[in-house]
Amino acid sequence: MHHKAKKLLESMYKLGRVPSSLLFFGKEGVGKKTVAFDFAKALLCMKRTFPACNDCPSCFHMNEFSKKPVEELRVYSDTSTGRKVFLYLQGDHPDFIYLQPEKDEIKIDQIRGVIDFVNLRPALSPKKVVLVWPAEAMNPYSQNALLKTLEEPPEDTHFILVCNMLDRILPTIRSRSYTVEFEELSEEDIKKLTGIEDRVILSLSEGSITKAKELSQKSHIIDMAKKVLSGSVLDVYKLSTQLENLSYEDQKLFLHTLEAMLHKKMLENKENYEIYERLIDRTVLVSDNLKRGLKLSLFVFYLKILLSEVV
Ligand SMILES: [Zn+2]
Repeated sequence: MHHKAKKLLESMYKLGRVPSSLLFFGKEGVGKKTVAFDFAKALLCMKRTFPACNDCPSCFHMNEFSKKPVEELRVYSDTSTGRKVFLYLQGDHPDFIYLQPEKDEIKIDQIRGVIDFVNLRPALSPKKVVLVWPAEAMNPYSQNALLKTLEEPPEDTHFILVCNMLDRILPTIRSRSYTVEFEELSEEDIKKLTGIEDRVILSLSEGSITKAKELSQKSHIIDMAKKVLSGSVLDVYKLSTQLENLSYEDQKLFLHTLEAMLHKKMLENKENYEIYERLIDRTVLVSDNLKRGLKLSLFVFYLKILLSEVV
């Protein structure tokens, strides 16, 4: 998984040519953050090995960092007006900071904090690392403030910016950074990384670990969709009340699952193509009109009747 991205990072590391700013991008939930953290650990490792040795004091502090609850890592600063502002996350490693938004935005005060950190000498490791996630949370002021630092990169500091939406990063930042693309994970990768074996969940996860995990927590909804397609009329009858009692989001998920499963059946079952096509259209229509009081219980019966025409 991420063979390309990891190989690229490994060769940069081994050649001693790691750019001062790296920009990781790719879909949410494909493991960018994990790779970024591991790479930061390798950059900071006192034995200078790739992957990191996991044995030196630097690696020890990095491993501790990832175990601690976020509240214990939060660093604040007082502004000249006496206001307390959140800066970044930092554990006991003096040369590593993790910049993230407090709510939705990474503000310019936080970038000032980062610049103060950049101006220090490394205290433990050969380098310092600033990990920024999600990088698109930096508003344009913050991005511009950071840009000044990226334009005159301090020799001993690496920035790893991680984002899902590359178009929300200023072109000037992008051109100062080495971009590393992360591809979607295959179903096999997700299976290995999460231990999830349900084929429907894997196929609905769209290459994202986050999504696969969310779906597996809601496997009862996926089971409902499976039952509607392959269960008896009595099964569907039993389900109908449960369906009405689901939250709006869960009803949406139910319909989305149904749609994906019907789609798969349509492709496997060419002679009934038209029936499946009609069912998919109806499912999408119901999903779009869910808020207008359409009854899911009636819809699943309709669906079951149409399915009985499938030869
Ligand atoms: Zn180490």
